[in-house]
Amino acid sequence: MSNKSMGMVYLVGAGPGDLGLLTVRAQDRIAQADAIVYDKLANPQLLEWARDDAEKIYVGKSAGQHSIPQSEIQAILLEQAEKGRKVVRLKGGDPFIFGRGGEEIEFLHTHSIAYEIVPGVTAALGAAAYAGVPLTHREQSSAITFLTGHEDPEKQTLQLDFRQHAKTGATLCIYMGVGQLPRIVSELLEGGLNPDTPATMIQWATLPDQSTLDSSLGALVKDHEASHIGAPAIIIIGQVVRYPARNNWFSARPLFGKRIVVTRAREQAARLTQLLTEQGADVLELPFIKVEPKFDPKVVAEVFAELAVYEWIIFSSANGVRTFFELFFKAYPDIRCLGPMRIAAVGRTTAEAIESHKLKVDLVPKKANGDALVNQLIEQEGVESIKMLVVTGNLNQRALADRLEKEGKAIVDTLPLYETTRTDLSKDPQAKRFRENGADAILFTSASTVHSYAEQAEALKIEPEAPQPALGSIGPMTSAALEKHKLAIDFQAPQSNLEHFVVETISHLKNTQSDS
Ligand code: SAH
Repeated sequence: MSNKSMGMVYLVGAGPGDLGLLTVRAQDRIAQADAIVYDKLANPQLLEWARDDAEKIYVGKSAGQHSIPQSEIQAILLEQAEKGRKVVRLKGGDPFIFGRGGEEIEFLHTHSIAYEIVPGVTAALGAAAYAGVPLTHREQSSAITFLTGHEDPEKQTLQLDFRQHAKTGATLCIYMGVGQLPRIVSELLEGGLNPDTPATMIQWATLPDQSTLDSSLGALVKDHEASHIGAPAIIIIGQVVRYPARNNWFSARPLFGKRIVVTRAREQAARLTQLLTEQGADVLELPFIKVEPKFDPKVVAEVFAELAVYEWIIFSSANGVRTFFELFFKAYPDIRCLGPMRIAAVGRTTAEAIESHKLKVDLVPKKANGDALVNQLIEQEGVESIKMLVVTGNLNQRALADRLEKEGKAIVDTLPLYETTRTDLSKDPQAKRFRENGADAILFTSASTVHSYAEQAEALKIEPEAPQPALGSIGPMTSAALEKHKLAIDFQAPQSNLEHFVVETISHLKNTQSDS
């Protein structure tokens, strides 16, 4: 194939929705792309893997309009590739399964554009796995057939003769079948498939709102009418649907079906979001605060010049640790320049940030708060006349230092390195979701997120018919802030760390559910 240019098109399977189901290669191609051509994505978060400067071209249906014709999509691919760009064409599931991947590569071939195909987890495989249906089973099914209700989503016609698939003994996986369900079912029955054959319909498979309708071929149409299930859904028909050990492991997770708001600054939200997602929650990130490095370079230079005089350095948050070491390694080539000082951290998360630099933390209080840290330093270590450095942010800058000086008679310098500011969420798309759909819980992880929430409560008012969230607090300081704003605390973590907070959230939501 002769290449007119260095441009290249990557046909990338985006899987059924769960981000974790993309291949390593798909993620890499998205991250490298100069342009990304996509239609409606099961998971818009995929685009966050792309470079900020990558051009993102939407070719799906816009409200009330038809999709962009295939010929136009192909023209866009050609135009982008001829600019010499790396073009990712994202396709739901697998590009070669009911996805027009074939037509696109024929076109690229004709125009001598180089291409690569990155396979994806097709919807039927995702749906079967996440609904606990083994598509083959030694005793029950030795073949699988992928069928489509209609070849063209624009045309509501059945081109396939389903009667021919009634007696093959294969597990049937039907894509795009919801609109044609009565005809599909009657053709299968006409063809001789037993009405007792187990059938299931799985909507939004692999996503937090996955729902499943278990039925039988004979009852499917009636059961479907009585349900809320619609497209996109996969229908699976076969004995394997009702095999004895079937377990809806995905929807049985403790936070499945719960929408939970995480309030931390975006950079810090990842860990909590991950813990909640692992338990099945649909996490909405509403960063009520923003944390950014902020410091006076003169003060930093002075402190760094004198580092050797401090016997203790105290970190009151992971944010401080991050900026401190960024600045430190700009000033010094070697970690040994830190000297023999001892290191204290307010809690485990802060300690872990320090340990990531291969430094041992000498003191972490049992309870993760500033008072406990000061008490332990004074009682255990004795800090009288000792020179100490406290790395802080803009809030409560002197709180630790003042107590150490007054009660411990230490000599304390503070080094403010970051600033926490409240964010305006009125334009955030996630905030819109929050107002419209409500949530089951909001998890507050610091006093500053509470203040910011209280300030925006009016702007974030949830529609009256949507669920009103329970308010959770990570610990006493956050709870005190909630009380200050007269916000009722529904639950508080027994220990101030993310793991305990998640466990407490699970147990609170379980209790409220069984009460209702
Ligand atoms: N190329 C895609 C299929 C595109 S056709 C693939 O390999 O999966 C679109 C159909 O796929 C939908 O009508 C529906 O039947 C199915 N589908 C896609 N995503 C789905 C999901 N998350 N849950 C259930 N069905 C899905």
